[in-house]
Amino acid sequence: MARLVMKFGGTSVADIDRIRNVAHHVKREVDAGHEVAVVVSAMSGKTNELVGWCKAAAPLHDAREYDAVVASGEQVTSGLLAITLEGIGVNARSWQGWQLPILTSNAHGSARILDVNGTELIKRFKERKEVAVVSGFQGIHKDTGRITTLGRGGSDTSAVAVAAAIHADRCDIYTDVDGVYTTDPRVVPRARRLDKIAFEEMLELASLGAKVLQVRSVELGMVHKVRIFVRSSFDKPEDIDPHGNPPGTLICDEEDIVEQQVVTGIAFSKDEAQISVRHVPDKPGVAAAIFGPLADASINVDMIVQNVSADNATTDLTFTVPAADYQRSVGVLNKAKGTIGFDHLDGSTDVAKVSVIGIGMRSHAGVAAQAFAALAKRNINIRAITTSEIKFSVLIDAEYTELAVRTLHSLYGLDK
Ligand code: ADP
Ligand code: ASP
Ligand code: MG
Repeated sequence: MARLVMKFGGTSVADIDRIRNVAHHVKREVDAGHEVAVVVSAMSGKTNELVGWCKAAAPLHDAREYDAVVASGEQVTSGLLAITLEGIGVNARSWQGWQLPILTSNAHGSARILDVNGTELIKRFKERKEVAVVSGFQGIHKDTGRITTLGRGGSDTSAVAVAAAIHADRCDIYTDVDGVYTTDPRVVPRARRLDKIAFEEMLELASLGAKVLQVRSVELGMVHKVRIFVRSSFDKPEDIDPHGNPPGTLICDEEDIVEQQVVTGIAFSKDEAQISVRHVPDKPGVAAAIFGPLADASINVDMIVQNVSADNATTDLTFTVPAADYQRSVGVLNKAKGTIGFDHLDGSTDVAKVSVIGIGMRSHAGVAAQAFAALAKRNINIRAITTSEIKFSVLIDAEYTELAVRTLHSLYGLDK
């Protein structure tokens, strides 16, 4: 007997038929003798619709009310799945974030989970053989008791947090692909499924644009040593051998990977905007004058490129911000123009960041140089570059994203 968390994303619960399919997956594990907590997302498209309604009601709205609205999607799914489970003879009860409770910070819209109380769930596993169906994406603020949400894709994080709280043997993330691939299989059909990927690499892939897992779920898994297994919900429950090894990807420690490649995967994000601050004085304090006000406005700056000035007087500084924060960033900088002392701003939201990730880069030189040559051959201009120990990123024109991803995918031998 094992204790499992099974998480099902939006496409896996998109309609009643799919919810029925999910219920049969749950029954399969219950029949095999396991204790199960299920974590569900809102039905596909629901969260976008709810977000759209908030914006339509008022473009600038209170984040507490946004959370009250968008958390409702998951409530519907958890109730529907509990009803469906009961209908096929599986004892089940739904749980909202406030009922467990799942306590979070008060950063409404992107709250962090602080604590999950799994006591009642464990008690019911033992006393009633009851499956817990937990609404993902939501919690309550530990002091105000108001409903919070965890940021887009947050049900992954709910699942890993519940797994840690109930000491689950495994956290299975069921989604619309059968594992983590070398890059998004929708963009590169020749992408390969990885049997295993190290936590550090998954953290980079997720934070650099691969939305298969929310970044915080990987962080939590790493800290609490949760076995996270990404697999498909579209397999027929009756086709799964209860004693076999289903296809999927295990997120594990680096030491558990026998054959480590230099490059493991490629991620991309079109959610970027580039801002260039032209002719700033080349003197101490200028970077602080630019990035201080942006930080005060809670704008996350990512890539930063600054030139050494040619005339010892002025230079240009280029950086990226999330595309959604572009207009706000320009406003903040223009307001601080007097203290910064620049000439003018250039910017573009038609840019994309393509990133190459692999723990093997620690011990191999020249990995990035190969990419620069391959992109040049395709006539793809690089606007900015950043590197760190196990990844590098290039900023390019958005229209070349797919070409760049495919080029690099072949270059590093990742095609199947
Ligand atoms: P869910 O609704 O189940 O949470 P998501 O849409 O959030 O599913 O995440 C799954 C999607 O992530 C896949 O459909 C795929 O297009 C995308 N994706 C991006 N990068 C990768 C990758 N490296 N491996 C697998 N899927 C990826
Ligand atoms: N429903 C939420 C979203 O669409 C959370 C999730 O699916 O993980 O972002
Ligand atoms: Mg998701």
